[in-house]
Amino acid sequence: MTRPTASAASRGLLTCHTCGLLSRSAPLAHDMHCPRCDAPLHLRKPNSISRSWALLIAAMICYIPANMLPMMLTTTLFGTESDTIMSGVIYFWTSGSWYLALVIFTASIMVPMLKMIALTLLLVTTQMRSRWQTEQRARLYRLVEIIGRWSMLDIYVVAIMVALVQLQGLATILPGPGAIAFGSVVVLTMFSAMAFDPRLMWDPVEENEEKMTDGEMA
Ligand SMILES: [Zn+2]
Repeated sequence: MTRPTASAASRGLLTCHTCGLLSRSAPLAHDMHCPRCDAPLHLRKPNSISRSWALLIAAMICYIPANMLPMMLTTTLFGTESDTIMSGVIYFWTSGSWYLALVIFTASIMVPMLKMIALTLLLVTTQMRSRWQTEQRARLYRLVEIIGRWSMLDIYVVAIMVALVQLQGLATILPGPGAIAFGSVVVLTMFSAMAFDPRLMWDPVEENEEKMTDGEMA
């Protein structure tokens, strides 16, 4: 791929994220605003990498209590039981509902972890201005964005259980502190992916192409 391309940023053009209007950036301008809707304009999301890192690290920290603290507190006539994500998975596995165990394990343990690994990979390579596998990394970013809220399955499970059991009146199920931590992991990774500006991945590629065409011309 040696075809020279020019990004909007290199031509001094930027689009408004709110209304989509294309405008020309004034040289050395700071607080630019969209002439049509007055939304703030920027060539690249400001402090994208550090913001994304901060949110990702916060998510990683929350991942620990999300797995250690009880997700669900069940109170029956015989006492109170607390379940973490993993003990829930083990319970379903041993009671024969292996498919349910698999779904919960994938959605609540595997997916958030893979998502955090993927974001770490994207951030490290982008920060190093790497040109390694840019297309694959762009694909990975889109995947992380799509997954978004779908890794929140465990919260849905708790919500459904709470509603179902509350109706029966024989037992009470309450979400445990782990549920809050788990919800935070999901929300924080979503924000982290949102704060990341994928265009930053392509900037080193473009710079390299510019260098190459300059070399050809000389
Ligand atoms: Zn606008």
